[in-house]
Amino acid sequence: MRASIPYIQQKFDEFNALCFDGQLQPLPIRLSRARTFLGKVEYKRRRQPDGSWYYFDFVFVISTLIDMPDTFVEDTILHEMIHYYILQQQLQDTSSHGVIFRRIMNELNERFNRHVSVRHKLTAADHEADTQRRQHLVCVSQLADGTVGVTLAARTRLLYLWDALPRIGAVKECRWYVTSDPYFNRFPRARVPKVYAADPQALEEHLKEARMLVRHGRTIHVVSQHVG
Ligand SMILES: [Zn+2]
Repeated sequence: MRASIPYIQQKFDEFNALCFDGQLQPLPIRLSRARTFLGKVEYKRRRQPDGSWYYFDFVFVISTLIDMPDTFVEDTILHEMIHYYILQQQLQDTSSHGVIFRRIMNELNERFNRHVSVRHKLTAADHEADTQRRQHLVCVSQLADGTVGVTLAARTRLLYLWDALPRIGAVKECRWYVTSDPYFNRFPRARVPKVYAADPQALEEHLKEARMLVRHGRTIHVVSQHVG
């Protein structure tokens, strides 16, 4: 499943009553399609006279990028609720998943048979599991050191990146494709010219159903026959 705001709100209220004695104050909830994290609590902080931080203005953020099992989404919500509890109580933990975080996490896992972990990031395996077909505009760059790189263009940035990518010093040659192969879901959509390293063999394999793009002036055409 992918979380929605009403779903997160419902789970938040449920876990707040069950696990935190209703001590968590309501806060804004936001969905994110970021590629790097599962969830986070955003906040502002200011330094207090004694040198410690005062935390305020919290926002609860949950990633909806990848379809995840229901229990994993619940555990992600609970993970972020532990962060929020620590921040809201103005507790100073030893690190982001420090002594206090782990104590609360272990207690909740034990009492409520949950599987919350200290994991925060989306991994390569998560991206591997992302099999949804979405259309991507892909630039494959041959680099001067013999490696290959990939850039996914946001639709509105295609012409800009078409011009800008070959001007990167390390880029020798660029080819553009359109494809819905889920392999490319793992790359971020670029708004600025940036090339991401890719495994050449995997790339060749996953470009098999791609169609090449050619440019005439300000118009981009799809070459009708398949590549490879
Ligand atoms: Zn965390």
